[in-house]
Amino acid sequence: MRIGEVARRLGVATHVLRHWDDSGVVVPDRSPTGHREYSEDHVYRLRVLQACQGVGMSLPEIRQVLNRTEPDRIGVIERRLHRIRAQRKQFEQAEKFLGHVVDCRHDLLTRCERCSSYAETVVASGS
Ligand SMILES: [Zn+2]
Repeated sequence: MRIGEVARRLGVATHVLRHWDDSGVVVPDRSPTGHREYSEDHVYRLRVLQACQGVGMSLPEIRQVLNRTEPDRIGVIERRLHRIRAQRKQFEQAEKFLGHVVDCRHDLLTRCERCSSYAETVVASGS
């Protein structure tokens, strides 16, 4: 299918699809007249691209994950898995803190054991 139809289906602008093509992330076929031709497989790859972007992955990173011939593909995947697991821990701690602080009656964080222990976990886990 043509780029305009793909753009409509995915809810992105055509220049975004051209950028993803030029960056080598999802490269469609070309018709004899030079138009980009996307298959269903390309559309699936584009959906995966969008999902990966949604969790903060960069285009070079996504390109490496989507292309099996990329040399450092496994390394990129393992580093991203590591970061996702660390982020999950941070989210769980933030969820616990917010769940508590909504009802916390202490006027200062330092007067509440649970609030101050959250502050300590944040400092401990760093960036
Ligand atoms: Zn508290």
